[in-house]
Amino acid sequence: MKTLATLRLPGDALDALDDVEIVPLRELREPRPGVAALIGANEPIDDAVLDLLPDLRLVANYGVGYDQVDVAACERRGVAVANTPGVLDAATADLAFALLLAVRRRVVAGDRFVRDGGWESGWQSGALGDDVSGSTVGIVGMGRIGTAFARRARAFDMRVLYTRRTRLSAVEEAALAVKYRALDDLLRESDAISIHVPLSRETVALLDARRLALLPDGACVVNTARGDVVDQDALVRELVSGRLHAGLDVFVGEPQVPQELLALDNVVLTPHVGSATASTRAAMAKLAVDNVLAVAAGRPPLTPVR
Ligand code: NAP
Repeated sequence: MKTLATLRLPGDALDALDDVEIVPLRELREPRPGVAALIGANEPIDDAVLDLLPDLRLVANYGVGYDQVDVAACERRGVAVANTPGVLDAATADLAFALLLAVRRRVVAGDRFVRDGGWESGWQSGALGDDVSGSTVGIVGMGRIGTAFARRARAFDMRVLYTRRTRLSAVEEAALAVKYRALDDLLRESDAISIHVPLSRETVALLDARRLALLPDGACVVNTARGDVVDQDALVRELVSGRLHAGLDVFVGEPQVPQELLALDNVVLTPHVGSATASTRAAMAKLAVDNVLAVAAGRPPLTPVR
């Protein structure tokens, strides 16, 4: 099955495919009849791209978030869409928890302070951090990654609240030791929140100015989901004022990052690296390729998006 990959996947994952070509999406300008599978990393796959690939049967997204793939357009043309759920939960939850720890305990600010020689002139009282253990964290979007985050938070003796559209069963809540709250109530009660909803029409700016204002003074916003899930301008205002703190792995219009954030000590920034460990990326690559192999063998993809 002729496959186009818009990027070189890590390791030897692509070797399992007998007819594969690497073409960055921006270089795909001419029609490519015969191409039956497209491997991409949450890039804009829309009607304009699909028009160039008349024989396409599968979009295999290398990543769990597929908000830039026009799934409805694919469905209209009978093109299946698959992603890589599950294999990146631990890595992404680890990064979210690392951001929470780094912000609350001022790890990056401390590192900068030492490197800049500030330690020799004394540690200022203004540089005290906030507790992680014993504090309350609210998980916005309690799916695969949110659940992995909840387990980490419980291991740190945190009180864990969560929100999602469909509440977990009492048995599931008890097993995870988490409590459900409607979003606004969760925000009022949380010392920190960690965002794990997919980006959709419903979740664009889910955390808007009004909702951010519900967070208590000094609360920490961790976002490893998508930048557009938060009203970024409103968040920047809250961060510049010093009222909120944040650990951010995702941004609106990546790789652009609001300039105002660069000088702030109450913010830790990472370049969209939630799943960026060698073994996780290898597992994602293998799953993306396995989805292609399944369709090539006449079966449905292993992990269709819906
Ligand atoms: P998932 O298992 O589908 O979980 C998503 C959760 O969000 C579900 O619990 C869902 O529950 C909830 N949700 C959806 N819409 C909601 C809404 N409007 N309000 C409240 N809750 C809502 O997804 P996942 O695998 O955990 O991945 C989550 C996202 O993380 C991905 O879509 C991706 O954007 C992001 N991600 C980022 C990185 C990175 O490198 N930074 C890596 C991996 C993933 P209900 O349906 O019941 O509401």
